[in-house]
Amino acid sequence: MSPRVPITPIDAAEITTYDHETDVLIIGYGCAGAASALDAVEAGSDVILLERQSGGGGSSALSGGEVYLGGGTPIQEACGFDDTAEAMEKFLLAALGPGADEEKVGLYSRDSRAHYQWLVDHDVPFKPSLWDSPTWVPPTDDGLMWMGENSYPFNEIAEPAPRGHRVTSDGFGGKVLMAALSEAVDKTSAAVHTDTTALRLIVEDGRVVGVVARHFNDTVAYRARRGVIITTGGFADNKDMLAQHAPRLVGLGVNSDGGDDGRGIVMAQAVGAAVKNMAGAQVGISLVPGMMVRGMIVDSVGQRFINEDVYPGLVGVAALNKHNLKVWVILDEQAYEEVPEDERWGVQPHFVAETLAELELEIGMPEGALQTTVGEYNRFAAEGQDPYFHKSSRWLRPLQSPFAAIDVRRGMAPPEYGDGGTGGGGAEVFSTGGLWTTVDGHVLDLDGGPIPGLFAAGRATSGLHSQGYISGTSLGDGTFFGRRAGVAASAGQ
Ligand SMILES: Cc1cc2nc3c(=O)[nH]c(=O)nc-3n(C[C@H](O)[C@H](O)[C@H](O)COP(=O)(O)OP(=O)(O)OC[C@H]3O[C@@H](n4cnc5c(N)ncnc54)[C@H](O)[C@@H]3O)c2cc1C
Repeated sequence: MSPRVPITPIDAAEITTYDHETDVLIIGYGCAGAASALDAVEAGSDVILLERQSGGGGSSALSGGEVYLGGGTPIQEACGFDDTAEAMEKFLLAALGPGADEEKVGLYSRDSRAHYQWLVDHDVPFKPSLWDSPTWVPPTDDGLMWMGENSYPFNEIAEPAPRGHRVTSDGFGGKVLMAALSEAVDKTSAAVHTDTTALRLIVEDGRVVGVVARHFNDTVAYRARRGVIITTGGFADNKDMLAQHAPRLVGLGVNSDGGDDGRGIVMAQAVGAAVKNMAGAQVGISLVPGMMVRGMIVDSVGQRFINEDVYPGLVGVAALNKHNLKVWVILDEQAYEEVPEDERWGVQPHFVAETLAELELEIGMPEGALQTTVGEYNRFAAEGQDPYFHKSSRWLRPLQSPFAAIDVRRGMAPPEYGDGGTGGGGAEVFSTGGLWTTVDGHVLDLDGGPIPGLFAAGRATSGLHSQGYISGTSLGDGTFFGRRAGVAASAGQ
């Protein structure tokens, strides 16, 4: 990788004058930056937020607005669900793993109710109603949804409860979340410097003390008396970084605001920061979950490989890692018709046939592949069972002619994208790996010690995750650990 603008740190001795000085300097105004700013001000700090764009928002504002929360939130209770922090922790460790960050997941689960309250106190709206079937984002304004907690094997690992808290919106809720957090930031003393791109960290005796940034054609130097917090998002838009760390993601569609260039991560690496889980990703596989769950997903030789009622991102991870996204959704006419028009996101079958023999021929699968798989599926589905993958009996029904197949690699785009989405290659992805941080947002160095003065949160860090991903954990860990970074940076350690 050869960045056009040098990224190595600058020694403070080279800075003759600082244009701006503050206690806590936050780079990036998405959900993590906003949360960091709010709690840093609350902790008594002067705060400046730097944002490269002309306004805050980032990927957070484009997101679905699902926040993963639980442990018995008022929304869960109002919808009639008991939940505990222990169950939430067990689920997350299983679903985000193997190797999810145990300390972060534990703390996040235990403090989840309080974090829900913090969001509500900052005017983030959630509606106490349940959306009860698999989808990416409900077409209604329902505030609670399952994220596969009631699917195998998770239903045997932890007591199931729906924990997808969706910010109230009639479409994607991220804009509502960011409007509320930005309004809250506006009410504080925090200053927001837009059109300002952080380029390099400033270091003094091993401590990060500021940032050199560009504001249009001007180079500006910022001094941070207590700490710098990096909340610049992930690196899915940086092809070189993907090739280096997560080559499976190269060439896929990117789920971001277009600015996940990873510069914040590399800026910190340049002062000795360690990274973690750099191959991790959300794999937003290009299929309609409601179609998949009513039918099945198979690989190029017609074999199922997962129960179709898990969170679809986990289907995406399995489909990418095991089958390079060469996968098909197989369903019948009834299954297709059962999915309401507004949940189909424009997806139509690519192959339709009266018999499975014709369908497998059309797709180019070995003779008998689908006949065997669907035959076995139907045999057990008639008894409400799925001994192969344990899909819930709620979704089991023998599939009947006419049959259809959807080629996942042809892509799809949610209506929110207009014509802008492609789902290129079968999935839209974003990175979940990044800077290795403590639960207080301290960025760790290669010896495992905190780099003085340097903090990070959001998708610039590796957060809760390892290889798995559940929707809501990015807005969730970004705001939760962003707040903690704001407090820790304010302590000036
Ligand atoms: C369509 C879509 C749907 C999604 N749905 C969900 C969902 O429902 N739930 C969920 O949890 N996650 C969802 N995600 C993922 C989630 O939105 C992101 O992972 C999360 O918002 C990242 O937050 P952040 O604060 O770390 O980064 P961002 O929100 O991306 O903010 C980073 C900010 O930093 C700025 N920046 C970057 N570099 C610099 C620099 N050098 N100097 C100054 N500023 C800089 C950027 O311009 C940006 O504004 C979705 C993402 C997309 C794109």
